[in-house]
Amino acid sequence: MSSEQSSAAENKLRIVVLPAHDEFSVSTRIFEITSILIASTLCVLLLIRSLPQILAHPTWAVFWILGVFVADFASGLIHWFADTWGHETMPILGRRLLRPFRVHHLNPNDFLRRDFIDCNGDVAFLQVPILVPVLFLLDRTPWGGAFGVFCLGLCGVGMFTNQFHQWAHQRSPAPLIRWLQDQGLILGRAQHRRHHRQPHQQAYCITTGWCNKPLELMGFFPRIERWVTCCTGLQPRADYHAFTSRHRTTLGRNSHCH
Ligand SMILES: [Zn+2]
Ligand SMILES: [Zn+2]
Repeated sequence: MSSEQSSAAENKLRIVVLPAHDEFSVSTRIFEITSILIASTLCVLLLIRSLPQILAHPTWAVFWILGVFVADFASGLIHWFADTWGHETMPILGRRLLRPFRVHHLNPNDFLRRDFIDCNGDVAFLQVPILVPVLFLLDRTPWGGAFGVFCLGLCGVGMFTNQFHQWAHQRSPAPLIRWLQDQGLILGRAQHRRHHRQPHQQAYCITTGWCNKPLELMGFFPRIERWVTCCTGLQPRADYHAFTSRHRTTLGRNSHCH
């Protein structure tokens, strides 16, 4: 076998042994479709009911922008938690939140084969418990209108966090997507590449990426990691390192056998 053929066979083998995202059951698929439909409907209802207020108070755009900032911060917090703490074997969260992020670091391209529903269903589900009380309180409290505009930014944009993340991995996104990325309106490709560099401990925010720089300047995540370790004795990324070395061992053993 020539060295070129040997290298091609090894690459093929590596692709086979890399961890991949779970294939979802029909019931999970129905849950995800339902979550997207409900969250989208609630967002449209919120937009329709907030529109007169927005037109009457154009400066309330500030609340919308603030909502997008909070969505980006929340994406970073959730991503950091999934990369840093917990065990892959934890009930529900382990399989649905922690493992996908761990697989994603070792095999980022596998994310590109997930379709719109698979990509956005779980994040849409998280918006429903926020949107329902907001719609209820909208006309019942003096601050309801402004809070509604804030939530339009938080949920309306935050709902598509995983979509923006997936687009940041595409080599050739559609021209409109590329334009939004280049303007910094959604997560940019270059910015997200920083997270995929070892040791994967920067640029956690994956909605717009707006919070990444300020949080890094504050040393935000290393500080709270030290605080969590001090209070609980837990070591950051303990399970993550175990997951990674398990797959590296598999790679090494298979390559050797070959
Ligand atoms: Zn990560
Ligand atoms: Zn990524």
